[in-house]
Amino acid sequence: MAVLSGLSPDQLAELLETTLAGLPSFRAAQIFKWIARGALSFNDMTDLSRDLREKLAARHSLYGSSIADRLDDPDGTVKLKIRLADGAMVEAVLLADGEGRQTACISTQAGCPVGCVFCKTGSLGFLRNLEASEIVEQFLHIRSISPAIANIVIMGMGEPLLNLEELRKALDIITHKDGIGLSKRRITLSTSGIVEGIRHLADAGPDIRLAVSLTTADPALREQLMPIGRSNPLPELKEALRYYQKKRDRRITLEAVLLGGINTRNEDIDALVNFARGLDAAVNLIPWNPVEGMTFHGHALRQPSGAEITQFTRELTRRGITVTRRFRKGRSIAGACGQLGELPR
Ligand code: SAH
Ligand code: SF4
Repeated sequence: MAVLSGLSPDQLAELLETTLAGLPSFRAAQIFKWIARGALSFNDMTDLSRDLREKLAARHSLYGSSIADRLDDPDGTVKLKIRLADGAMVEAVLLADGEGRQTACISTQAGCPVGCVFCKTGSLGFLRNLEASEIVEQFLHIRSISPAIANIVIMGMGEPLLNLEELRKALDIITHKDGIGLSKRRITLSTSGIVEGIRHLADAGPDIRLAVSLTTADPALREQLMPIGRSNPLPELKEALRYYQKKRDRRITLEAVLLGGINTRNEDIDALVNFARGLDAAVNLIPWNPVEGMTFHGHALRQPSGAEITQFTRELTRRGITVTRRFRKGRSIAGACGQLGELPR
């Protein structure tokens, strides 16, 4: 039976109607609030009678996942390994930015079917989509170790736009004004560039921030680095992003993980400038975080040199592109971008 953490107030009321017939509907709203506040058990819900708490506990589980392990990086990043009800593992990360604002980075799939050649998660293959409750609970677990989460980035394991339905439900709960109430503007979704999903977001929301992992705008190289580019070609991706901006009127982020000696060429700069033309976009550069054993055309991937990063940044800036650089956090615990991975049960 569904765990309660993944249900909206209406769904909760509906469920309780079937399992505890006659329960007044405001009880569902109370339970929803308690979950948002981080109640650990029905017993914590002190405005419910003991009799009701016992009945609820006999019929329902609040949560399905638990923290299996916690790794702390000296830079303040914390990675949680979370065990799901069926034994699958996912990871969620707590990051602090320069000003000390806390961000939760959460996963949407166990593994990832997209298979980018530079990403640890991609190298694991795909196990399954996460349920709404499993996404909400990652947020709750992260908040349990750091009460003031200012932002969420959906940049953990998996491709969020291939699990949009469950993600939508989870975000409805996380942003619900009677519950956690996080603002949609504080949530950023990163996609490998699923054209259909971007159009869905444009049409039906939620109205969150969008980041697209471009990596390079050279089509041939991109298809080699990100096989998803074959079925989601760059011209269609750009069309979808223009459509998104027409509907949502929001600046987007183009992410480029920099792979030393591979996508830092002049051709990549030209292509990126060209792709960004006509979009309201900033480019976020992410120096590749090392993952053991990753190769491209038989050569080990390497981090970009300082000179490569500087050159790339300077040239984009000179050509009128706003460039930001992703802070490197959590490397010692394999908690940085692209390093997340744990599938075995
Ligand atoms: N699947 C989504 C979100 C998760 S990946 C996506 O691909 O966008 C989040 C970001 O990490 C992406 O921009 C991706 O390109 C980047 N990334 C993947 N592997 C990386 C690595 N080893 N080092 C640095 N960034 C990496
Ligand atoms: Fe999947 Fe994103 Fe990793 Fe690509 S970068 S394999 S889409 S998690």
